Amino acid sequence: MLSKTHLTVGVAAALAVSPGRTAGGLFAAVIGGALGGVLCDVECKDLPGRNDAFTGRIGAGALTVLLLTADSIMKAGLWTSIRTQPLSSVIVGALIVILAASLGHISTHRTFTHSLLYVALLGLGGGLISPFLTVPILVGGVSHLALDTLNKKPVPWLYPLLKKGFCLRLCRADKAANAAFFWLGLIASAALLAWKLKANIIP
Ligand SMILES: [Zn+2]
Repeated sequence: MLSKTHLTVGVAAALAVSPGRTAGGLFAAVIGGALGGVLCDVECKDLPGRNDAFTGRIGAGALTVLLLTADSIMKAGLWTSIRTQPLSSVIVGALIVILAASLGHISTHRTFTHSLLYVALLGLGGGLISPFLTVPILVGGVSHLALDTLNKKPVPWLYPLLKKGFCLRLCRADKAANAAFFWLGLIASAALLAWKLKANIIP
């Protein structure tokens, strides 16, 4: 699937499993789901005239900056969870994410970045930065692998143990199913966010 689709579906999946009892928890779900969903395609380079990978990365980055700023102003809890982590934990976590993404960036398409190992490294690094981010990043990453498994190019879930992946060959990455999943992810994200805000946060 394309980058924007992985972003909306990653966010929806993370919101679905998030208990969302605080605004900070919901912000973490959106940020983690978006980053987990998009970073699995960190090795993708846009062809001339196409900007899909770039758009997804800008979208996830903008969401992260926007929600961290909102969290800081509202004192919603995500920033506090980062600040109360030992500095060494935050630094090691950031290094793990940067190292995994850098290795992913230079890897062959749909190898290391489309494995549970890569998703686990992102979740581990994110969790060392803030425990709120672990599950959303893992869920966002797994949603990416699951969506790509519907396509016609194998996904090596157990790389490097099993380099040969599998796929269901149900749809193409850039056709109607991609658009359907994009809108499904967007609508589900908005509905889940509204429902969880109303149920748990708004008095
Ligand atoms: Zn992918």
